[in-house]
Amino acid sequence: MVGVSERYDGGPVAALRRIAFLLERGREETYKVKAYRNAAAAILPLPADRVAAMVADGTITKVAGVGASTAKVITAAVRGEMPERLAALEKEHGGPLVPNGAGLRARLRGDLHSHSDWSDGGSPIEEMAFTAIELGHDYLVLTDHSPRLTVARGLSPERLARQLGVVEAVNDHLSSLGGDGFTLLKGIEVDILDDGSLDQEDDLLARLDVRVASVHSKLKMDAKDMTKRMIGAIRNPRTNVLGHCTGRLVTGGRGTRPESQFDARAVFEACVEHDVAVEINSRPERRDPPTALLELARDLGCLFSIDSDAHAPGQLDFQVYGCERAEAAGIDPDRIVNTWPEDRLLTWANR
Ligand SMILES: [Zn+2]
Ligand SMILES: [Zn+2]
Repeated sequence: MVGVSERYDGGPVAALRRIAFLLERGREETYKVKAYRNAAAAILPLPADRVAAMVADGTITKVAGVGASTAKVITAAVRGEMPERLAALEKEHGGPLVPNGAGLRARLRGDLHSHSDWSDGGSPIEEMAFTAIELGHDYLVLTDHSPRLTVARGLSPERLARQLGVVEAVNDHLSSLGGDGFTLLKGIEVDILDDGSLDQEDDLLARLDVRVASVHSKLKMDAKDMTKRMIGAIRNPRTNVLGHCTGRLVTGGRGTRPESQFDARAVFEACVEHDVAVEINSRPERRDPPTALLELARDLGCLFSIDSDAHAPGQLDFQVYGCERAEAAGIDPDRIVNTWPEDRLLTWANR
């Protein structure tokens, strides 16, 4: 190698995780990320001296899950050198995502909308929680999908009940590591069915900390029926957040999709009346609600939740996109529920 390498003392697992995080944050295809996440998981349980010995005798690629490019990263990190791939990605994807929004982002204490590999997310629950901690969050609400969303492996009542036990185990594990007050909260992104009812058993919804309700089907329903449907869900005392209200897609791999049609004034007035927050969905391909609706909700006095809707750990960093839009709309941070401390959030969500 030419020149003197930069020092790196994070170790191989941190280097692989950081590469994956940066790829996800930079919206690279999942298949490019997978190798790094798999390699990190493969070497995590191995003692450091064993990894170092395998690097020294050139057998690290014999570990299932470690390939040529991930072996290069591991080798550099074990030697205390900055892996080339990591240095390149820090340059390419490590900078600010948008010019504005950082001030409001610094005031967010958590995220109310995220997915794990239990539904259509790409990573295990604990990896999402670790990354949320690294981003400085006090809480992350795990909101995997509900039964009817079969394309996203929505959770049956039995699977959701099982997941609640896993969330408790993750919190126990985190506090045994000295988890510094972080809580993984129990949640759901529950489908709003055609008649406005919620797609999960009420006694299970009652056991959750926070519930996001979203429309995912029949987005082209006529405006009158869609308004009724959405207000039906908003009136349900379990509903806390109205997820990506128009369902539009403005860019990206899934193509574009127009906004659902509904009486936005009536829907947002119902949100005010029933103390439901309007989600500012930060995903770049959603940018939902559109600016005119965001300003209408602001003028009507709605609460908001700025959510990442992350389907991978690196996407938890998407919140700044929503913060930039909320800042531009001049929304008072105290009306954004995830600027609140956890106890205030939980009191509001379970009144
Ligand atoms: Zn959704
Ligand atoms: Zn979602």
